Amino acid sequence: MLADRIYDAVIVGAGVSGSFIANAFTQAGMKCVLLEAGRSFRSDQYPDNELDANALLYWGGGIELNKDASIGLLRPKAVGGGSIVNQALLDRFDDDAFDSWREASGVSFLTRADMDPWYDAASSQISIRTVPEEHANGNAVIFRDGFAANGYRCAPLERAQADCRFEDGNCCIECLRGCPIDSKQSTAVTVLPRARAAGLEIVSQFEALLVEPGDVVTVRGRDAGGAAAAYRGRRLILGAGAIGNSRLLLLSGLEKKLPALGHNFYTHPQYMSLAIYDEPVNAHRGPMQSYKSADPGFRANGFKLENVFAGPVGVAMLVPAFGAEHMRRMRSITHMGCIEVAVRDTNPGRVTVSSSGKPVIDKTLNDEDRRRRDRGLEAIRNIFRATGAREIIEGNVAIGLHLMGGCNMGVDAARSVVAPDFRLHGFDNIHAADSSVFPNAPGINPSFTIMAMSCRAADEIMRQAR
Ligand SMILES: Cc1cc2nc3c(=O)[nH]c(=O)nc-3n(C[C@H](O)[C@H](O)[C@H](O)COP(=O)(O)OP(=O)(O)OC[C@H]3O[C@@H](n4cnc5c(N)ncnc54)[C@H](O)[C@@H]3O)c2cc1C
Repeated sequence: MLADRIYDAVIVGAGVSGSFIANAFTQAGMKCVLLEAGRSFRSDQYPDNELDANALLYWGGGIELNKDASIGLLRPKAVGGGSIVNQALLDRFDDDAFDSWREASGVSFLTRADMDPWYDAASSQISIRTVPEEHANGNAVIFRDGFAANGYRCAPLERAQADCRFEDGNCCIECLRGCPIDSKQSTAVTVLPRARAAGLEIVSQFEALLVEPGDVVTVRGRDAGGAAAAYRGRRLILGAGAIGNSRLLLLSGLEKKLPALGHNFYTHPQYMSLAIYDEPVNAHRGPMQSYKSADPGFRANGFKLENVFAGPVGVAMLVPAFGAEHMRRMRSITHMGCIEVAVRDTNPGRVTVSSSGKPVIDKTLNDEDRRRRDRGLEAIRNIFRATGAREIIEGNVAIGLHLMGGCNMGVDAARSVVAPDFRLHGFDNIHAADSSVFPNAPGINPSFTIMAMSCRAADEIMRQAR
C-alpha cells in the first residue's frame, strides 16, 4: 500500500537520532512520519525478565554475531532505540576524539567549541544527573578503591536520569530492559511524547527495506502484519543506526553511488571480567555504575574501564565452564564484582548484506586493538587483586554495543557517505546524523554526541529546506 500523503520528512529509525530530529522538525511545524521496526512500550509493558527482554528489544532475538563469531553485537530494536536499553551514561567528546574525527573526515566543525552549543541544546531536552555517590553499591566500591590503590584516576558519572529513587530499592540493572519508573531519559519519555503532541506520526513494527530516491523519496517496507507498505516524503532522514542504515542503503542498491557505504564500521569491543569475593558484593543493587575511568594513561593507551554487571543469563554466558564447575561459580553471583574494558578500536570493519537481506558484519581486532584490550585486562586484574578478590574470571567474550560508522561523514565522496551538511553525497534530500556517520571510534560513550549531532543536523536541514 502506497500512502497518498507526501510528508515533509520520512524518518527511518526511532532511536536516539531519529527521535531528536523528528521532535525538532515537528516542533517547527513540519509534517513527519517516524518509521520504527521495533515495538512501542509503555513503562509498565517492558518485559519483566532477561530472556524476553533480549528477544523483544533486540534484533536477532537478542544478539547478532560478526562473520567469524568472535564479537557478539547488541543492536536495539524498539521505539526509543538504544535509549530504551542503554545505561544512559552521557559524555561529551574530548579534544582527542574530535581531533581524530577531523583528521579522518576533513570536516571542520568537529571541534569542542563548535559542538558545545549542540550538546547544550540536547541537554536542555533531558534531565542529566550525577549518580549520587551515597548509593554506590559493592561493585562501585571495588572499582573506586581499586583505582585508588593502583593510582588510577576515576570520576563520578553523569547519567540521563530524573529521579531513580534508590532509597526505595530501585535498581538500574532493571532498566537495561526498559526503565519501569520512567526515570531513565529514553527518547520514549522525553522528546517523543512532545513530538507526538505536536503532530508526529509514529509507525512501530514497520521495517524499511527499500529507498527510492527522487524529488519525493519513497520508503518501502513491511508493516506489523507483514504486508507491504510505503511512505513518501520530500526528504528522508536515516536514523536506523550503523548497521540499519548501511543495510537499508545496500538493499536499495546505492553502493554504486556511495562507494564507501558499509565501510568504516567500529564497535568499541568490550570484555567483561568477573571476580569472586568472600563477602557479598551485590553488583545488581542500586545504581549499576557510580564511577567512570578518567585516567589519562588509559585514554593514551586506547581503552577505558566500566563498572558494569548483567542479569544471570548474561553472567552465565561470561563464565567459561560447564556443568558442576559452572554451577559452582554461578552460585557466587551475589559475591561477584565486574569490570569491563572497552577498546577504542582502530581496525575498521565492513557491513554488507547476504542474499537473504541480512546484515553481514566483517569486523576483527588487529594487533593494536588486542594490545589495547590486554592492557585494559591487566588494569582490571590489578584492581581486583588490590581489593581482595578470591578468584578472577578473565573476560574472553567480546561484545559490541557501541555500533558506529558504515555511513561515515567526510568531505571526500569517494571515501565517505555523508557530507558535512548531513546530506548523503550526491543526494539533495537524504540525510543522516546518527551513529552511522561516525568517522572512527572515539573511545567515549557515543549517545550524547549522537544527540548533539542530531540537533545540529535538524537545524541545518531546516535551513536547507527554507
Ligand atoms: C546495552 C547497551 C548499553 C549502552 N550504554 C550506553 C551508555 O551508557 N552511553 C552511551 O552513550 N551509549 C550507550 N550505548 C550505545 C547507544 O545506545 C547507541 O550508540 C545509540 O543508541 C545509537 O543511536 P542511533 O540513533 O544511532 O541508533 P539506535 O538508538 O540504535 O536506533 C536505531 C533504531 O532504528 C531502528 N531500525 C533499524 N533498521 C530499521 C529499519 N530497516 N526499519 C525501521 N527501523 C529500523 C532500530 O530498530 C532502532 O530502534 C549502549 C548500547 C547498549 C546496547
